[in-house]
This record gives sequence, structure tokens and C-alpha cells, in this order.
Amino acid sequence: MARAVLLKDVCFSYNANQPDTVEAIKKLSLEIEEGSFVALVGHNGSGKSTLAKLLNGLLLPTSGDVRIFGDSTMDNKKLFDIRKNVGMVFQNPDNQMIASIVEDDIAFGPENLGIEREEIIRRVDWALTKVGMLEHKKGTPFKMSGGQKQRLAIAGVLAIKPKILVLDESTAMLDPQGRSEVLKVAHELNKQEGMTIIHITHFMEEALGADRLIVMNDGEIAFDDTPQNVFRHYEELKNIKLAVPWDTQFAISLAKLGIDTGEITKEEDLIDSLCRLL
Ligand code: ADP
Ligand code: MG
Repeated sequence: MARAVLLKDVCFSYNANQPDTVEAIKKLSLEIEEGSFVALVGHNGSGKSTLAKLLNGLLLPTSGDVRIFGDSTMDNKKLFDIRKNVGMVFQNPDNQMIASIVEDDIAFGPENLGIEREEIIRRVDWALTKVGMLEHKKGTPFKMSGGQKQRLAIAGVLAIKPKILVLDESTAMLDPQGRSEVLKVAHELNKQEGMTIIHITHFMEEALGADRLIVMNDGEIAFDDTPQNVFRHYEELKNIKLAVPWDTQFAISLAKLGIDTGEITKEEDLIDSLCRLL
């Protein structure tokens, strides 16, 4: 597997060399393998969005190096490819709609890349199919639910054919139904298309299905392991204002008493496991 993302000793400060400078990323090093599903969590202001913007060259490091498939974001000649390879979906679905008809909205990205008409049509259908919105092709985005709008925002990014999809709190404004719709799409893209997913969220339970959970705290990485292993540190996580899902915490507590509940990735697992034990 190729290395999708490489950060080496990356520092980033807003308003560098000014009295109001903010050191948002502090000497951070990180590697992400192609095809992995990474959840990135951290309290407000811990540097998650700054990190996301460093990945697609929207921000450039104050020092250190950010590489996407080996290309440095500091290399002007590579920036276009990097932006194409790192698709970003943000928090507010309403700010990401451009056209009043769904298919025009999805076509916008590839049109800007100068891609030929036939290929655009193919990509629009493919992207809408991937997010389960093909039947809404002729519809209008403004009337849709938050979850549907975010799936359209993902389709708009997919039409550019990125290798890496960054979801920056894309589920934050959604109801539970919308959140699970978006998360399902992200997991399918990872499994079926081998797309590298970086899912930034403050809902800890959304990290459960990820291959890897990175916890940020004040511009640094506090934990980086499988979600199960990170969650074992729930006391320390609490100190950095993060709450582990209750079912996982409960299972870990039982394990400490010598009661093995097996792997818990969702609430039902715990219930099944407890029923078996009883
Ligand atoms: P998160 O996404 O985890 O909430 P951010 O990356 O947005 O964190 O912010 C990291 C730090 O950088 C915070 O202290 C925040 O106040 C600061 N920050 C973010 N954007 C700006 C900006 N445009 N100008 C100055 N400081 C900023
Ligand atoms: Mg943010």
C-alpha cells in the first residue's frame, strides 16, 4: 500500500510573527496508509481543521513538510494535483451547494477541471449512485434533509475523483439519521473504492468503525491507535474533554474485573455479549 499522507515535524501558526500569533499545530508527525479509515477527534480548538487544511494545501506549514502521495504541498507545480487528490467536505451542508439542480451541482467540480461532457455525465451518475442519491438527480438540493445535502456534498467531491476524502465535522449539524447515512457512505467508499477516509468528528462513537483513531490535543497527537485501544484510556480522555461511548467504557470496566465481553463496536454487541454471559 502506498503512503497517502506524510507529515514530518509540521508546525503551523496563524498570524505568524505577530503579537496575536496562535500556534495551532506543534511539530506534528504522522503517516496515513492508502485505503485506511482514520477517525480524528479532539476538543474544540485542538487543531483538527487546521490539520485538514494543511493536507490539501489550503494552508502551508510554517515549518516541516506535508506530503500527499509523495508530493509536497510546498511544491507549486504539485498543488493542483494535491487539491484534486484531497477532497474536503465541511460542516455546513448549505454552504456547499452551488447549483439549484442536483446534477448541475455535482457536475460543477469536473466542469471546472475541463473534463469532457461524456465523462462528466458518467461521473455524476457514479457519484450520485455511490451516495445513494441517483433518484434525486433532477431534484433541488435546497429542499432536502441535512443528511441528503451532506451526501450530495460528498458526491460533488467524488466527481473530482479524489484518492483521499476528508470529512471535517460533516456530521456535526445532522440528526442521528443523517449522521448514520453519511457515515455509511464514508465506510462504503472506503471498502468498495479503497478510498482513504479521514473522518473528523467530535462524536467519539463515530470512531468505532475506523481502522485507527487519532486524538488531538492542543495541536499535538495525544493518542494514535485502534479505537478499542484508545478508548481504554477513558480517564485520560476525560481530562482532555473527550467522553468515551458508555457501552465501550462499560465493557472495559467489566474486562478489568476479569469479565470478557469480546470486541464491542456497537451497542448491540454489548447487549449480545451480556446476554451470553448471563
Ligand atoms: P478544531 O478544528 O480542532 O476546532 P482549529 O484547527 O479550528 O481547531 O483551531 C486550532 C487553533 O487555531 C485554535 O486555537 C483556533 O482558535 C485557532 N485558529 C483557527 N483558525 C484561526 C484563524 N483563522 N486565525 C487565528 N487563529 C485561528
Ligand atoms: Mg474544526
